[in-house]
Amino acid sequence: MTVTLEKSVEDFVATPRQLFIDGRWVDAASGKTFATPNPATGETLAHVAEADTEDVDRAVRAARRAFSGPWSRMSASQRGRIIWKIGDLILEHAEELAQLESLDNGKPLAVARAADVPLAADLFHYMAGWATKIEGNTIALSVPYMPGAGFHAYTLREPVGVVAQIIPWNFPLLMAAWKLGPALATGNVVILKPAEQTPLSALRLAELIAEAGVPDGVVNVLPGYGETAGAALAAHDDVDKVAFTGSTEVGRLIVHAAAGNLKKVTLELGGKSPNVVFDDADPEIAIAGAANAIFFNHGQCCVAGSRLFVHESRFDEVVEGVSEIARGIKLGSGLEADTQMGPLVSDEQLRRVTGYLESGRTEGAETRAGGRRHGDRGYFVEPTVLTGTRPDMKVVREEIFGPVVVAAPFSDLDEIAAQANATSFGLGAGIWTRDISKAHTLAAKIRAGTVWINCYNVFDAALPFGGYKQSGWGREMGHEALEAYTEVKAVCAQIGG
Ligand code: NAD
Repeated sequence: MTVTLEKSVEDFVATPRQLFIDGRWVDAASGKTFATPNPATGETLAHVAEADTEDVDRAVRAARRAFSGPWSRMSASQRGRIIWKIGDLILEHAEELAQLESLDNGKPLAVARAADVPLAADLFHYMAGWATKIEGNTIALSVPYMPGAGFHAYTLREPVGVVAQIIPWNFPLLMAAWKLGPALATGNVVILKPAEQTPLSALRLAELIAEAGVPDGVVNVLPGYGETAGAALAAHDDVDKVAFTGSTEVGRLIVHAAAGNLKKVTLELGGKSPNVVFDDADPEIAIAGAANAIFFNHGQCCVAGSRLFVHESRFDEVVEGVSEIARGIKLGSGLEADTQMGPLVSDEQLRRVTGYLESGRTEGAETRAGGRRHGDRGYFVEPTVLTGTRPDMKVVREEIFGPVVVAAPFSDLDEIAAQANATSFGLGAGIWTRDISKAHTLAAKIRAGTVWINCYNVFDAALPFGGYKQSGWGREMGHEALEAYTEVKAVCAQIGG
């Protein structure tokens, strides 16, 4: 049964969407638009204005004005209430946002309803509370060459300023929330560039942000391509910080572009996360957990548990269990009520992921489940389990960003710690065992920003998220996120003569 779309969703996609600059909806300076496709069919879903350099300039000017305007004069408490209201409005429009997300990204509606939308609302509610708790310290000084001098010294935490935020297509609304929440709580102004594959929920969010009372120019949303609008934002001389989530390859380009005016940079990049099942793990829970770790969101998760390591004594049982789950997953349009896995986001991702499947076959991996494109319409790929791999194979080393897991056996804890860390990434990891000593010993050895024990893909606005090694710089969510959006000013006054 196909879900009936809300009238507001039908109207939203039927109307050409514009750029949101300085609190107004405007066409791109070039007049250009691009089509965002429905990944379940490949047909055009909506037409969207295509931002480029001139629009970036306009948005940066508007943001700069807003930074010294009403936003900076607003009390922290008032700012917090507005951010809270954004969370409330997301919940009020939850079904509409979930439908837009499912249409544009392809994910099952049930997933957008259960995860993307409530997590986005939660993030704003969590960050709203921080707006009134941005504090500095008082510091006692004892300057050696000024004996006897008295000082009153303290620190202030101030907003960084004009922030460019460039986000991907795998969790479009949630990534917008992760970025906007802490930036607004700390008093920054933002130009958000959603991914060209999935601009719709960020554009609807911009309407809700305006409705919540965020002053004009504080949040600007520029849909457009990475090589044009994204690159212009990363290089712009009047942007103070760029926050990026996406591929490691583009992360490097961002760092180069940012070097011009040495703007601050935070990055949330790729992963090739190890998921380790010990012999004493509850097999049913570990099998279901390992399948969820890789197949959630069609494997299009930066933390996807894409390298499954199973103790040699349980290898066949666990691999067969995960393969059976993979074979049973119902693929279909995100709007079909019984769909468990939707299409990949784009034709490009379909080609990329099937290219990896081909490479795995050529290099000699054994396919235990899936392994091919599903159907010939839309961008569907079968959930896939590969074994018989070697560490030097592309499917083992590179991020596939699709529903493909490589499984390998291991024998002891030291060996598995080394294998888990044998990657240039360090984003997530999973450990399945009933032995708490083993669990925490391995957790300490793994070089990754998040380690889940007997669970996977658990996200919470209060839990910091980010990467070691080439998985990124800085942390999102939790109070750690606030540090990335504030500058520290030390104020030092001599007192008492
Ligand atoms: P991408 O890195 O190209 O795109 C992410 C965002 O960056 C988009 O908004 C895009 O428009 C923008 N962008 C692209 N080129 C840019 C540039 N030169 N300057 C500034 N911004 C730019 O990711 P993709 O091509 O959509 O996906 C490719 C691969 O990236 C995936 O297969 C996956 O491995 C990885 N990826 C990772 C994440 C993550 O959450 N870590 C998310 C999406 C994709």
